[in-house]
Amino acid sequence: DLDIDERKNAVVELGLPKFRAAQISNNWFGRLNSDPDSWTDLPKEMRAKVSDKFFPNLMEPVSTQSADGGQTVKIAWCGLDGSIVESVLMAYPNRVTLCISSEAGCGMGCPFCATGQGGLQRNLSTAEILQQLMVANQQLEEGLIPGHNRVSNIVFMGMGEPMANYKAVMGAIHAMTTPKPDGFGMSARGITVSTVGLVPKMLQLAEEGMQFNLALSLHAPDDELRDGLIPINKRYGVDATLNAAWNFAKVTGRRVSIEYAMMRDINDQAWRADLLAKKLHARGDWGWFHVNLIPLNPTPGSKWTASRKSDEKAFIEHLERSGVPTTMRETRGREIDGACGQLAAAVREGRVQPSTQASK
Ligand code: SAH
Ligand code: SF4
Repeated sequence: DLDIDERKNAVVELGLPKFRAAQISNNWFGRLNSDPDSWTDLPKEMRAKVSDKFFPNLMEPVSTQSADGGQTVKIAWCGLDGSIVESVLMAYPNRVTLCISSEAGCGMGCPFCATGQGGLQRNLSTAEILQQLMVANQQLEEGLIPGHNRVSNIVFMGMGEPMANYKAVMGAIHAMTTPKPDGFGMSARGITVSTVGLVPKMLQLAEEGMQFNLALSLHAPDDELRDGLIPINKRYGVDATLNAAWNFAKVTGRRVSIEYAMMRDINDQAWRADLLAKKLHARGDWGWFHVNLIPLNPTPGSKWTASRKSDEKAFIEHLERSGVPTTMRETRGREIDGACGQLAAAVREGRVQPSTQASK
């Protein structure tokens, strides 16, 4: 949870010289070694002290499942208080993306989302967010997915609303992008924060002076429909939310991704594609947006389901005809409760037995 200066202060408070802070950072971030007992550059009696004081065991992986021929691996974690969160590792030919959670549960209550249905348990700390990346990197280094030894991209698209846990999420992004050995040394350009549209936080995010990406989960171009899909829309409506996304693009020069989960007979009508295109173009044609369509992953027992192929095709045609750059997200890990919050729900409800095979 500590930045570089705070680490130095904490080490001094423990009665150790300042330079030990850099050694500790180097072992953890630089060498991906999270076991203080094996840090031979620290005197033996100091290691137990450092371990007790700075490295409590925050979360344990309780279930690890793989799909897509081993290219997708999903981990469910159990925190000290028993709350379950999840992260998903997805390997592609030229990158490895980790989808991480920012909260245990989520308070936003979107009805089509398994996480939203469970409510908010609590925010995660910076350390709990980083732990998901640390263990993913360690597992890759141990050969989890042959040919890939490091996470290259991060998406905050697991459980939780990252803008509702702003400070911890920014702390994690700083640690991810701080050069090695004080941080993970990742490129901000490979990090994507996905939000349901908390406008004041989106405006703040634009002022961070960093080159990460923003994804806005819009899912509907009109307030009438969006109010029902995304309860917070009643406070921050479509226009205010799109303005905040446009502002992020203007300030940072980064193209914003407009996320649109295709829901059968709910938001997938061609006229809504036209309205979406109109609202995006109205804010400028300088390439500030692209639309990323997501096939809805139905949550068990819900009325929400994926669009018909023909409606999907018409929707894409209407967007493209209006000059909206459009992509369709590749689905991963369906057979392992791949969508947001589904594995965590399965673990909580006892449908998936905890196992620790892949958690060393
Ligand atoms: N709370 C943030 C980030 C986590 S959700 C947000 O909402 O943006 C990440 C993405 O998954 C969001 O775009 C969300 O709308 C989408 N999502 C949630 N449930 C889904 C489902 N059942 N099928 C497909 N996408 C879903
Ligand atoms: Fe929360 Fe995002 Fe799910 Fe909505 S879609 S309930 S904001 S995690």
